[in-house]
Amino acid sequence: MSTPQHHAIVVIGAGIAGATIANELLQRGQSVCIIDAASSPASACSSHAYAIAHPHIGKGSPRLLRLTKIAFLLAEERWSKGWHQHGIFQPTKKGKAFDRDELLGHLQALGLNDEIAKPLDAMEAKALCGIEQSGVWLPRGATLSLAKAAKELLQGHERLMEVWSTRITRLESCDGRWFMFDTAGNLVVSADKVIIAAAMESKALMVSINIRLPLKPVRGQLSIFSIAKNDPWAARLPRVGMSGDGYCLPAQELADGSYQWIVGSSFDEGEDDLRASDSSDNFNREQAQGLINYGEGCTASLKLKNSFVGVRCVAGDRLPIIGALTQRPGIFLATALGSRGVLWSALAAKLISAQVLEDDFALLTRLGFAADLVAALAPARFFAGALAAPSALGALASNSKPIFPSGPSAK
Ligand SMILES: Cc1cc2nc3c(=O)[nH]c(=O)nc-3n(C[C@H](O)[C@H](O)[C@H](O)COP(=O)(O)OP(=O)(O)OC[C@H]3O[C@@H](n4cnc5c(N)ncnc54)[C@H](O)[C@@H]3O)c2cc1C
Repeated sequence: MSTPQHHAIVVIGAGIAGATIANELLQRGQSVCIIDAASSPASACSSHAYAIAHPHIGKGSPRLLRLTKIAFLLAEERWSKGWHQHGIFQPTKKGKAFDRDELLGHLQALGLNDEIAKPLDAMEAKALCGIEQSGVWLPRGATLSLAKAAKELLQGHERLMEVWSTRITRLESCDGRWFMFDTAGNLVVSADKVIIAAAMESKALMVSINIRLPLKPVRGQLSIFSIAKNDPWAARLPRVGMSGDGYCLPAQELADGSYQWIVGSSFDEGEDDLRASDSSDNFNREQAQGLINYGEGCTASLKLKNSFVGVRCVAGDRLPIIGALTQRPGIFLATALGSRGVLWSALAAKLISAQVLEDDFALLTRLGFAADLVAALAPARFFAGALAAPSALGALASNSKPIFPSGPSAK
């Protein structure tokens, strides 16, 4: 083996996950080499300019609820610049009665005070959000351009080495170092520690070291609609973001009096076709009707201006995979961010950097990272024996055969 350039830390993948982790490590005084198959950051799913963020408040999956609260606070702090806080309204599920006391109890149990989440009846929601439906108001909910954020995170660092247009297809370990090879089989770099943030391609990279991850692609399409100034829809458009069955950004009034409204998104499991499709835009038109409870609204009034298509990477249990791969010392994973790239990348940056640098566990505890949450995110949860023996650094695995946890799945 010839001697490649050696680094203490290499990050594979410069989407929002890889860029955020690299930035955290750089801020903590480390030197980092980041490698991406594309010629610039955020070329894949993180080319998304309209990602929303809010803590999850649904019922069930208590670990997911605790994790999204921690992640939301971390994301808010990390992206104060570029963080467009407009508030997000989550309508009550269709057919369910609004019970303010019950909701208040639920939100309090999640540790969410009314600065973060507040029940609203239909009249209050109409006054605040322009939507006559009951639900929960999340005043700190926001939108972030993942593309801009990822690019900015990698700008102006002396200790950052960037390797673009290089696809890593194989990892090999020798004498405590990890060697990384490109498509042509050429040795690219070696490192003591490698953070794999290559979304779906993390799966193939892991196969090269005999680890099988249960990842699958989920295609999604977001539609950017234009609505004429005098159209009946115009009077019903939300002034805030909404999240429920689908999501939307606040409708934006343009100089000519028409509106731009971004609505999404399709959730096509197992699909990875990046071409925009009419059927996904039509699906989003129906989501738009459902979100603002306007079933009689003519969908032809939602004229398509543009679409964004991306392929999410999702794990079998719908939680992200974040943490040290204990079966392969020196390998760390940050993948399966699903539909929560904003939240999980902020959380991954703190968790992975603490594990890579083997410090800061007290800080993690202060941030609320209890051992069960770290184990719930750990790659080892998919391997036989993992669930029986969780540790503070993630469950220890007995082998690399994947299993699917039987706990409630998180959406
Ligand atoms: C329609 C849609 C709507 C969404 N809405 C939201 C939302 O509202 N809020 C939210 O938080 N999230 C949302 N998401 C999810 C969010 O976009 C993703 O979770 C996030 O972008 C994933 O980031 P990533 O860094 O893990 O992956 P990516 O952005 O896909 O980055 C992976 C990087 O790895 C590189 N790479 C891959 N393989 C290799 C290799 N072998 N060698 C070198 N480099 C490699 C790629 O070039 C790429 O740059 C949405 C997604 C979609 C599709």
